[in-house]
Amino acid sequence: MKIEIESTLISEAEIQRRVRELGQQISEDHHNRELVLVCVLKGAALFFADLFRALSIPVRCEFIQLASYDDRTESSGHVRIVQGLNENLRNSDVVIVEDIVDTGQTLTVLMEEIQALEPASVKVCSLLDKPTRRTVTATIDYVGFEIPDAFVVGYGLDYAQKYRNLREIFCIKT
Ligand code: 5GP
Repeated sequence: MKIEIESTLISEAEIQRRVRELGQQISEDHHNRELVLVCVLKGAALFFADLFRALSIPVRCEFIQLASYDDRTESSGHVRIVQGLNENLRNSDVVIVEDIVDTGQTLTVLMEEIQALEPASVKVCSLLDKPTRRTVTATIDYVGFEIPDAFVVGYGLDYAQKYRNLREIFCIKT
């Protein structure tokens, strides 16, 4: 299927400014704590790389990969863990770094997976939030931008695995 990029939703400068603010906030909230940032692959990879460098406190990183879309713009509703966590998270503060929270189903699976590892605390940082699409309750502690119900690509977010390398976030027409 051919897609058309419709319009820029969030510019590179806006993204970078917000990432710096989030980095500062997370650093203040976890001062003198044992912090692990968990990157949810693949969509959060670019956001994660920038956010990780925006932190001013010692921090470890971990990666988990989930899949739910199967190259479509609607979630299949079945969230699979493609690659799990290796690190010991017990007694650490965990911040899950997501690209976007849509229905909230991915976050529910992630929370269960991470809570089972007995961390001291778990918070969620999502670059984007589509609150009108929620089918399950999801708490997001750090939100980059609230966006309307549109399918977006760029800055890590894909359509059929492409467009992740765009520096801005765009709405698309399919
Ligand atoms: P949820 O489980 O909250 O419905 O969906 C979360 C996942 O769906 C995100 O991590 C992301 O991979 C994908 N997703 C949801 N909305 C969008 C969107 O507008 N664009 C892209 N590229 N992916 C999305």
